[in-house]
Amino acid sequence: MASSTKLILTESSIKLNAAPKSKSEAIEQVGEILVAANAVEPNFGASMLQRESVSNTYLGSGIAIPHGMVEDKSSIKEDAIAVLQVPEGVEWNDGEKATLVVGIAAKGDNHITILRRLTRLMQNKELLTQLQTTNDPSLILKALLDDDASANAHNAGNTDAATDFAEKFEWTVDYPSGLHARPATAWSDAAKAWVEQGIKIQVRHQQEVADASNMVGLLQLGLREGDQVVISAEGDKAQDALMQLKQVITSLSKGEIEAAKKAAEALMNVKHGGWKPAAEITPIAGVTASPGFAMGQVYYLESKVLEIPDQPEPLISASDRLSRALEKTQLQLKSVVDDITRRLGAKDAEIFKAQSALLADEELMTLASQQMVAGHGVAWAWHEAVEVKANQLASNGNPLIAARAIDLRDIGQRVLANIDSSLKKNSLTDLPAGEFIVVAEDLTPSDTAGLDPNKVKGIATFAGGPTSHTAILARTLGIPAVVALGDKMGDKLGSTLADLGQKHTLVVDGDAGRVYLDPSEENLASAKEWAAQLAEKRLEAEKGRQLPATTTDDVNIIIGANINRPDQVKLALSEGAECVGLMRTEFLFLERGDTPTEDEQYATYLEMGQKLEGRELIIRTLDIGGDKQVAHLKLPHEENPFLGVRGSRLLLRRLDLMLPQLRALYRAAKEVSNIKIMFPMITSVSEVLTLKQYCEDVRSSLDAPEIPIGIMIEVPAAAVLADKLAEHVAFFSIGTNDLTQYTLATDRQNPVLAAEAKSLHPAVLRLIDLTVKGAQKHQRPVGVCGGLAGDPLGAQILMGLGVSELSMTPRDVAAVKAGIRKKSFADIKALAEKALSFESADEVEALQGGDE
Ligand code: PEP
Ligand code: MG
Repeated sequence: MASSTKLILTESSIKLNAAPKSKSEAIEQVGEILVAANAVEPNFGASMLQRESVSNTYLGSGIAIPHGMVEDKSSIKEDAIAVLQVPEGVEWNDGEKATLVVGIAAKGDNHITILRRLTRLMQNKELLTQLQTTNDPSLILKALLDDDASANAHNAGNTDAATDFAEKFEWTVDYPSGLHARPATAWSDAAKAWVEQGIKIQVRHQQEVADASNMVGLLQLGLREGDQVVISAEGDKAQDALMQLKQVITSLSKGEIEAAKKAAEALMNVKHGGWKPAAEITPIAGVTASPGFAMGQVYYLESKVLEIPDQPEPLISASDRLSRALEKTQLQLKSVVDDITRRLGAKDAEIFKAQSALLADEELMTLASQQMVAGHGVAWAWHEAVEVKANQLASNGNPLIAARAIDLRDIGQRVLANIDSSLKKNSLTDLPAGEFIVVAEDLTPSDTAGLDPNKVKGIATFAGGPTSHTAILARTLGIPAVVALGDKMGDKLGSTLADLGQKHTLVVDGDAGRVYLDPSEENLASAKEWAAQLAEKRLEAEKGRQLPATTTDDVNIIIGANINRPDQVKLALSEGAECVGLMRTEFLFLERGDTPTEDEQYATYLEMGQKLEGRELIIRTLDIGGDKQVAHLKLPHEENPFLGVRGSRLLLRRLDLMLPQLRALYRAAKEVSNIKIMFPMITSVSEVLTLKQYCEDVRSSLDAPEIPIGIMIEVPAAAVLADKLAEHVAFFSIGTNDLTQYTLATDRQNPVLAAEAKSLHPAVLRLIDLTVKGAQKHQRPVGVCGGLAGDPLGAQILMGLGVSELSMTPRDVAAVKAGIRKKSFADIKALAEKALSFESADEVEALQGGDE
């Protein structure tokens, strides 16, 4: 069915097999075709070239759309397009090659029409590849003139959706919570690697089919426990792909079953009584999402109703703006994942990994692009696309999947704020001093992850559910939460929720799933007493964590926390940490859009030092690069960033970053005596000597005291040369995360290799052994601040190898201490020796069994 739009494109306007040497030549050629078709004046080619110098006309997926300057519209006689097919591609921008150059001469809406078709075409990779090499111009003609051609082709995968590919296997969902976002991300990550090699993989449930590499598509299948699915594949290595996917799918079952059990246990407290008020007060019933009891001033987080402006702008700049915002959001999410992994643990960080997969959904992009080509502003188009998709998710019958709508809106909101900073929502990160109960319609995972438990004592929301990501995060943070309060609180206060303001007090009984508004003096006193009783019980339970990590034969190891901000000190100490063995300063740079000044850094280091009241504080200088990219530093792109200018290598090349940081550190050291400096990613003695010289220059210029300077041992070269390095530094701290990836040549972020990146691998342990022995030659202490330190078995092996300090995520402290306290040092040494003698990580891990 041909389009009714009057837009000239004939086969004679399509030049196949062109081989222009440059972008300008390609534009000239396409201009000549338009002139020959009598659609434009001869000067139009020059206008197209000029346009190129003011804006980028590369659309993506090998398509470029040169068009003239707005002021040259009068040169257009008739709306037309011309196509140059360049099978070998012509370089358009750095690293971007155009294979289809679509010259557009259009006065009005036709420009949008052709863009809409091209955007659709871009979603259909198969057809696009065909057009880039075909010898049949009618194919190109059909794709560009016929709205339905690209649409139908796009849907082709779904029409015969209910049939499986020849290679297949059946599986019955045994995840108690169904296929929710976290496992769906793992499935799609595993499938993507194969899809990139040209293999098609689909998941079918009854008549519904999803592309296995599309996480949102998988979610929309709404799979529940007990559902039968057929997973099938087509292509060269279809069998291999299925075998690997099956392994990923089934290996998740155990964790899913355990997680569901834990969540159920956490919520069992509902039946456990709770507070009995002394005088009459009406409870407002909700659903418990996180146990515990708290009271405080209401802090009402008003849901800001955002007025999304619809300001149309040229498509190219709009799509540029959208892709910049998406890129920025992905980087922000990466830093959130990093932060949460280190602060709360890898499990909770998966929530944000799943969000990042939601963001990469192609359908979401198509929806947004189509709104933009239809002439809507970028913010409006994005918001609309997110709402359409979120509503689709929300209407899913499986509540776990429906709950992902809030994740999509959460991530959508981050993008919106990156498109236009005035579209930022109200935030909870800068609460005034005090103890609050946050009241809101609902909280997003981002809101909750950013809460400061020192200020936010409880959460009460009108909407939400006990299995939401917000509930999971609240439980990890130890903040009592009651959700699904409906509008009952609103009713009680009259109709306006906004009236909640700061004037009210709220009691949150997370154990009973109830809240109480404005208790009387008598009830408040009783609530305080109840809270004190609970605190006493908690203290009793916490006592174990506050005991030192001393073996039964009286050998002690120092236990530190890895934290990055002063407001995390309280939590770390209450979890039983005795010092801070690693403060990753890059987070000061990652969490904001610009570089903190020397004064700002100084204030943070000083506050951190003061809050620790004399306890050791090891501050690591910036470790940027590898997995930690900071957009605003605009560092050059590297093919292989983990092997590139990272850590100390970057510091030595960017004195503008290092010197202010060193000055801030020495200025703080003039006021507190517990600061130690640590340099990351050291590979040679000469690096250490140069870094120490800079430290000395800064120190003497400020007349600051000398402070211990240590280094991280995280590459095999440093471990092997430990005896040489030890001569020049005060201490070592082993970064087992990097040491593992560099020793085993296993990218620490590659999900496919996650199961192989084991720090308990004997090769890693032998390098640690070598490091300790090297340090002992110069009587230098060795700590470990990588993930292995927080693993109870790993911690014992490290202690047995002679490590004297372990620093970890605060939540890991209790289990590590408890494990060490049960053992004698003689046993721990024997354990380490055994581990060194094994040939595989599996054998070392099996030691765990004999540990209990
Ligand atoms: C490590 O590599 O083990 C480490 C502690 O540093 P990071 O995780 O910040 O790279
Ligand atoms: Mg590291």
